[in-house]
Amino acid sequence: MAYRIPPAKVLEDSIRRIIREQQSIPSQRQFTELVLEDLKKKSPDYKVGEVRLRRMALHRNLARVVIQYRETREPSHKGRCPVCLSPTEELHNQTLDDQKVELGFKCTKCPYWTGPRKRVPVRYIFTMQGAIVPPTKKRGKYAQWKFA
Ligand SMILES: [Zn+2]
Repeated sequence: MAYRIPPAKVLEDSIRRIIREQQSIPSQRQFTELVLEDLKKKSPDYKVGEVRLRRMALHRNLARVVIQYRETREPSHKGRCPVCLSPTEELHNQTLDDQKVELGFKCTKCPYWTGPRKRVPVRYIFTMQGAIVPPTKKRGKYAQWKFA
């Protein structure tokens, strides 16, 4: 079965167009289908995987992604982010006697985080990106997320 991988620029254009048209897309599957439909207008052989789509949308600030989770009984561990495959880093909490306590892990590139019990993404909601923070303006290390 012949298929082609769309170049980054082509894929980015399709993602932008779909996000702008839809404003909000309630699932990863729907997002993938819509982008694929748009890509096929350019070439019927184009194919795209969910992870590539999600990575590009996140890493190039094309969409805002809300991740819904399920908490498992398994302990979390350092490794690749399940959302975008970037490395994760440890989350610490400073206790009164200055001992650092490990709280979990967060992705270095996207909003994914997990507590001591591993959280697994179960749903992604893609929405229009609001104001984009300029890359020169550094935010506080953990300013972009809060524990629920
Ligand atoms: Zn990530």
